[in-house]
Amino acid sequence: MSRPVLVWFRRDLRTEDHAALWHAAQTQGPVVPVFIVDRELIAELPSDGAIFDFQAACLQELARRLEALGAPLCIRYGRVEEVFSVLFQELAPRAIYYNRDYEPYARSRDAVVERLARAWGIEVKSFKDHVLHEPWEVATAEGKPFTVYTPFYRVWRALAKPEPFGEPERLVGVPGLQSEDLPTAERLSRKREVPTWAVEPGMEAARRRWERFRRGGLLHYAAQRDFPALAEGTSRMSPHLRFGTISIRRLYADAAALLEDPTLPAEVRTSVEQFLAELAWREFFQHVLWHFPETPQRSFRRWMDDFPWEGSEEHFRAWVEGRTGYPLVDAAMRELKQTGYMHNRARMVVASFLVKDLHLDWRWGERYFRSRLLDGELAANVGNWQWAASAGVDARPLRIFNPVLQSKRFDPEGLYIRRWVPELAALPLDYLHEPWRMSPQEQARWGLRLGRDYPYPIVDHAERAARFAERFTQLKRHTETRRD
Ligand SMILES: Cc1cc2nc3c(=O)[nH]c(=O)nc-3n(C[C@H](O)[C@H](O)[C@H](O)COP(=O)(O)OP(=O)(O)OC[C@H]3O[C@@H](n4cnc5c(N)ncnc54)[C@H](O)[C@@H]3O)c2cc1C
Repeated sequence: MSRPVLVWFRRDLRTEDHAALWHAAQTQGPVVPVFIVDRELIAELPSDGAIFDFQAACLQELARRLEALGAPLCIRYGRVEEVFSVLFQELAPRAIYYNRDYEPYARSRDAVVERLARAWGIEVKSFKDHVLHEPWEVATAEGKPFTVYTPFYRVWRALAKPEPFGEPERLVGVPGLQSEDLPTAERLSRKREVPTWAVEPGMEAARRRWERFRRGGLLHYAAQRDFPALAEGTSRMSPHLRFGTISIRRLYADAAALLEDPTLPAEVRTSVEQFLAELAWREFFQHVLWHFPETPQRSFRRWMDDFPWEGSEEHFRAWVEGRTGYPLVDAAMRELKQTGYMHNRARMVVASFLVKDLHLDWRWGERYFRSRLLDGELAANVGNWQWAASAGVDARPLRIFNPVLQSKRFDPEGLYIRRWVPELAALPLDYLHEPWRMSPQEQARWGLRLGRDYPYPIVDHAERAARFAERFTQLKRHTETRRD
């Protein structure tokens, strides 16, 4: 038998439209799909056990599918270099193929593996898969990275997009390879606190959900995407993109194909364009992280790292547990805690609240989000947190979300609040967004005592927002004066 190609699966747990697997299959020779449970990486991650269970379920389905195609998945535990050294000895592969990952840790890990493989005389090929365009393919006229979204989007949108590859018809496997257990939360001794998943794991589930959304929610996306109570208002593809159970090429190609119909109603056209623009936000933040790998630790606007954060653990716990006294914030934080997902509008509101009402460092929120979100990933999470904190790229004039106005506008019937904050469910709409406006008599009438059944607001929004704006403006002015 000829020497095999190792296909290293990482955050791309699918067989359809998988660049590295597709190219390995084209060699017609034996293929060994490998997944390494990288203990070093896991030790660094704040992720709840539910996220590992989600990944394990995706891996289980992937293993079944690869076996059916002819090349069973080989799962190994250990430090990546050590696992590869063993595999090199065991299999004498001729090459390793993998899809590129743009996170700082992954980049340095991949460089180590590449050096090791070359020392063994093994070819290394990496592929574009996780993005439509590489960070170095989208640049300003001066060849610099974009740090503002809109001009990035214009250039990105105009570039020709890669087509999906499809699934290999069959693979030639290597018989008799040992594989270890699935890395479930239990196997990894990780505590599981998020009880349910908002999204079903695996490529079949991704496909089903996408097909439904493509024919339904996508057509009304522009009008519906901002309302957290609408379960079909957005695609919920983010956990699938995070674990690669669906490809970005597939989503783009299917959505863009709709635009080719000249009779497409204007509302649908706008919706599809809006959806593509969201995919571009994802890619924008991937590129930002690649160009500015220090941003998970440091604000892009450096001077924001001198902001006098207050650091109240008590406020942070109230935010985490959904006990701030602001119903929309609390609904969103409870949705996250119970399902590993939160709607984008709600994410913007709770992030603004943490930073601009509680005056807590955006890094606290970023880490907590990553510990709970099924789609939690460094690029999108850091990028969006810095955006929400007015500390990142694409800095707008200071924007502070008003949690009550947001609540009235984007949960107008209170469906989202009633679902996630059941103690408020019986309140009439007049009080649902601002329960503190109820007199003691009204509280008695509606069966809810503030301070006992539901908290009074832990801070006064107007006062805290004004204070944030004042500190922010002072700091900005101070930095500008220092620069002059
Ligand atoms: C504070 C904060 C933290 C966030 N953290 C993450 C994160 O860790 N991982 C993550 O994938 N998204 C993150 N987002 C972006 C966004 O909230 C989610 O991508 C979106 O809610 C996922 O739901 P969906 O798939 O139904 O989105 P849809 O509305 O259906 O959008 C389709 C896809 O576009 C991409 N997308 C949409 N909005 C954004 C955005 N603002 N930034 C980057 N990509 C976007 C996602 O891949 C998404 O799946 C964050 C947003 C905020 C405000």
